[in-house]
Amino acid sequence: MDLIRTADELRRAAAAERERYGTIALVPTMGALHAGHDALILRAREEARSVLVSIFVNPAQFAAGEDLATYPRDEGRDLERCERLGVDAVWAPPIDEVYPPGVTLPEPDPGPVGETFEGAARPGHFRGVLKVVHRLFDLTGPCHAAFGEKDAQQLFLVRRMVDELALPVSVVSCPTVREPDGLACSSRNARLSAEERDQAGCLFLALSEAAALARAGESGAARLVAAMTREVGATPLARLEYAAIVADDTFEAIDDLVGDDRARAIVAARFPSARLIDNLPLPTA
Ligand code: AMP
Repeated sequence: MDLIRTADELRRAAAAERERYGTIALVPTMGALHAGHDALILRAREEARSVLVSIFVNPAQFAAGEDLATYPRDEGRDLERCERLGVDAVWAPPIDEVYPPGVTLPEPDPGPVGETFEGAARPGHFRGVLKVVHRLFDLTGPCHAAFGEKDAQQLFLVRRMVDELALPVSVVSCPTVREPDGLACSSRNARLSAEERDQAGCLFLALSEAAALARAGESGAARLVAAMTREVGATPLARLEYAAIVADDTFEAIDDLVGDDRARAIVAARFPSARLIDNLPLPTA
């Protein structure tokens, strides 16, 4: 497995692998790899013989006062994990290789969807996400790129950027990988105290209740949201930030589940040691 640090090396390595195998697959991550990242790497492998993982904690997507300084980092462990999974190359750059001083990189506009839910809670977050993803796509060149449904709003916005800018990238996605109690795997879970960890399953419980109601024929989003709010509200250490039902094709909140239109329940809650997000596609009745 190659370990790449510079942007120039990355361009050269990606071009060489594409030349050799016809295509490559990219898995962008912020490291502290877990089973969710493993699933993306395996999904990427289905698309291309050559898999490239990037590991970069992107300061541009952290708002002031967020956990950039304390975000979990363990490069040694991440590299071993990638090696074990048969990753071909890892790009783990210093910040100047991603954002070269004095260079103005494109900053695709996340638009109004970038201001809602995660974007409302974390001002500038999606601007920072699209900036780094665009930079990665530019350095890597035409490729497949794998993203997790865990970050559904991010996945939506990356797909839209690819469409709007006609980038030569095929985006593939992976369902959320969960712990046995339903908690979505996340690098930030490591920060939860034992007591918080015990209660963190409430996000998945809330989403599952919404899904069960929808499956039973409930089509009013307000009632699904009320059930989610109750579940998280009954969890002593969780403070609900938002719960909503959004349409998959617009990521806008909807009032009613209509026919076969795909919809998704989304939720965010703050625990004393970490802020957690999750979502679940809703079954059509
Ligand atoms: P991160 O390192 O948290 O920025 O995540 C890198 C990629 O892994 C993103 O595309 C995430 O959506 C995806 N991801 C994170 N957690 C999970 C999970 N539990 N299941 C599936 N994908 C995930």
